[in-house]
Amino acid sequence: MAKEKKLVEAITSMEEDFARWYTDVCIKADLIGYTSVKGCMAIKPAGYALWENIQAELDRRFKETGVQNVYMPMFIPESLLQKEKDHVEGFAPEVAWVTHGGLDELQERMCVRPTSETLFCDFYAKDIQSHRDLPRLYNQWCSVVRWEKTTRPFLRSREFLWQEGHTAHATEEEAEERTIQMLNVYASFLEDVLAIPVIKGRKTDKEKFAGAASTYTVEALMHDGKALQSGTSHNFGDGFAKAFGVQYTDKNNQLQYVHQTSWGMTTRVIGALIMVHGDNSGLVLPPRIAPTQAMVIPIRQSAEGVMDKAVEVKAALEAAGIRTALDDSDKSPGWKFSEQEMRGIPVRVELGPKDVAAGQAVLVRRDTREKQIVPIENLAAVTAELLETIQKDLFEKALAHREAHTYDAVTYEEFSEIADTKPGFIRAMWCGEEACENKIKDDLSVTSRCIPGEQVHLADTCICCGKPAKKMVYWGKAY
Ligand SMILES: [Zn+2]
Repeated sequence: MAKEKKLVEAITSMEEDFARWYTDVCIKADLIGYTSVKGCMAIKPAGYALWENIQAELDRRFKETGVQNVYMPMFIPESLLQKEKDHVEGFAPEVAWVTHGGLDELQERMCVRPTSETLFCDFYAKDIQSHRDLPRLYNQWCSVVRWEKTTRPFLRSREFLWQEGHTAHATEEEAEERTIQMLNVYASFLEDVLAIPVIKGRKTDKEKFAGAASTYTVEALMHDGKALQSGTSHNFGDGFAKAFGVQYTDKNNQLQYVHQTSWGMTTRVIGALIMVHGDNSGLVLPPRIAPTQAMVIPIRQSAEGVMDKAVEVKAALEAAGIRTALDDSDKSPGWKFSEQEMRGIPVRVELGPKDVAAGQAVLVRRDTREKQIVPIENLAAVTAELLETIQKDLFEKALAHREAHTYDAVTYEEFSEIADTKPGFIRAMWCGEEACENKIKDDLSVTSRCIPGEQVHLADTCICCGKPAKKMVYWGKAY
């Protein structure tokens, strides 16, 4: 028993130290490993399988809206990066530079892409000539590099995986429509697949992407009450087009600038998955994203008929479309249970000699640990239904947690009291001035998360300065 307890004891409880709990889960659930490369992580099979499922789901959703995949170079010459002033200022502090090719110093240094707006613009300037070339709806799956000072698995690493969509349109309206469309793709992916409820809204000018006319975001609340920006969609207007000369001839043979968007989601969402659903036994994965949905664990597997039945059960579950694995290792059942729980596999099927004799199996939910005895002939159907229930329950639980940790403030005293003592989102009115955002950030380490599309009128005046309020804003401490 001592050995069996070790796996769970190996992780710090989230109440004791949430940050350590998070890192422990990343390691013990076998998602990542460390390498000699500072600030970067090795993504192990269990972590990469999650990313592959995220990719597959998102990619399908992108393509349904007409998006095509492409690939751009990973290097950006300095002169190209310099072309859009706000953009270069935003990214300069964290880019990595290539100064040599082999033994020779480069005439012009190149950065490793921190994001690829400049490359797409450079490409579009050559690739787009006529209104017939529009819209261009391109996306690339790649890694980018941002030289972060402090790093954490999935949440902040110097190299990370993501997708970046870059589109070019004939009109402002089309670009805005695409920006919102992709925001909605992210929101429905997060809610329907990852079971993470999100707040959709616009970033304030202070928080928007470097060079964007407007940035939209989906914000999620983690278990510790901190916010995580989980996907962003930017409307660039024609700012980049003017800086890079991306023009087309319209139907009247007049030269026009294109209107552009970009949108991205990264391996950060794996961090969100961990921090929204995980518990003190490890990861809890929503069935729709789980690489393995059911783990069959034989008990006293050397007993007659147990392994044969376990193999049969696995095949039956797979035939019903359930991603199933069988743990036939020589570890003890208790150890196998802990491992399945640590890895967040949504259900396990326990099968011992008595079960085999009775023609039944024990089905155990990962999220609630609820057990039920199921006749083997019904097992596939019951498991499939249970996976749907777990998916729905995880979303409801996360939503209830967010609602219980969302507070309204009307006075600055209330606001600072909540910021100091109650982790979560704070909803409060804002005048639209950056000075108030700065003061709130300096005083309370709280940032504006977004101006939600669904506005609620809480008061007439700004929470900070008392001037007339323009918008209700979600505020919070963020990752
Ligand atoms: Zn104000």
